[in-house]
Amino acid sequence: MPQPVPSAAPSSNDTLIQKARHHLLQNYKQQPIVLARGQGTRVWDADGREYLDLIGGVATCALGHCHPDVVAAAHAQLDTLWHVSNAFYSQPQIDLAAQLCEWSGLSRAFFCNSGAEANEALLKLARKVMKDRGTPERFEVITFERSFHGRTLATVTATGQPKYHAGFEPLPAGFHHVPYGDLDAVRAAVKPTTAAILVEPVQGEGGVRQAPAGFLKGLRALCDEKGLLLLVDEIQTGMGRTGIPFGFMRDGILPDAISMAKALGNGLPIGAMLCRDDVGASMVPGSHGSTFGGNLVAAAAANAVLKVIRQPGFLDEVNSKGAYFLEKLRGIQSRLPAGRVVEVRGQGLLVGLEMDRDAPQVLGKLREAGVLGNAAGERTVRFAPPFTISREELDQSLAIIERVLTAL
Ligand SMILES: *Cc1c(COP(=O)(O)O)cnc(C)c1O
Repeated sequence: MPQPVPSAAPSSNDTLIQKARHHLLQNYKQQPIVLARGQGTRVWDADGREYLDLIGGVATCALGHCHPDVVAAAHAQLDTLWHVSNAFYSQPQIDLAAQLCEWSGLSRAFFCNSGAEANEALLKLARKVMKDRGTPERFEVITFERSFHGRTLATVTATGQPKYHAGFEPLPAGFHHVPYGDLDAVRAAVKPTTAAILVEPVQGEGGVRQAPAGFLKGLRALCDEKGLLLLVDEIQTGMGRTGIPFGFMRDGILPDAISMAKALGNGLPIGAMLCRDDVGASMVPGSHGSTFGGNLVAAAAANAVLKVIRQPGFLDEVNSKGAYFLEKLRGIQSRLPAGRVVEVRGQGLLVGLEMDRDAPQVLGKLREAGVLGNAAGERTVRFAPPFTISREELDQSLAIIERVLTAL
């Protein structure tokens, strides 16, 4: 097991946090530790304290911190070529597009740097396709209550949570939110101006809420009937997080386009929009772009990530670890005073504990005991451990979680 940071570490948590409070924009609710180093499931703070990191940069470090294959791929690319404009081709990007298309069943890839930017590409695609079909009046997008799609003006408006809108009005036109999982409500919301439906297979930020089985299939049929695009936000659920390559596969459908980001670069910033050939044809040369999109180091890391995740049997392990974690958490729930954990939800290694109190309060106690998670909605504690977490690390985490929740 890796050793903690030696005491030669230059600055402590306290001195660094003081500096942060002076100079950083105060837009985040930050936990009072400075993370300095990571290896696998473990991270160390600036004072050398060790934590089990069960959130991994909010579901980004899916192979754990400093996975050797990803580090090697990024290093090799750093020594070769960092970045070229998208006015030129580059092999890491071409290889990544090929891997992603083969894995997802979609046909074309556009690269960007973040989730919000990938969703922007989905939204622009939907408008452009409708213009090209001769139905420019169709520009509106149906999304869901409690959804999360990002923080740019368009994606925050797509987000079905009023708290993220407050203070930023007037919001861009063209978004309608309906209850998640309610096919009749979606059908009733479709108008002659509707272009697309945008949906998460599991609402991550909204509290780790899984769509009812068959919901995406129902949306696919509705989109086919009404001539709409089905856009699936796989930013959090993609790349195997839910135990299958992409969340939409649970319903055996193919969306018109999907967005991904988080785990794609195992923590290096990269996002992608993938689409079917027919709709992709609308994005003609000059129609869209991104300076850093598909950066070579990030793309090389992503190729290494996919190579690991796509090994035969790898996702079976994610599934069985996820099922084990959920079962043990339900066991803990049953031993606690009734109602303390309202619900244990999850799919694969994306797990939420809905508590009887505000999540940050519970997360602070978990952190003090050596386990890191984050909030998904007001009262849900979210865990998105690395796919590489060992059974031993899961058991250690579970023991700490039980102790903390019992003592609340
Ligand atoms: C994280 C997330 C986003 C936003 O991604 P950023 O990289 O923060 O822009 C969008 N949609 C979903 C489902 C997410 O989980």
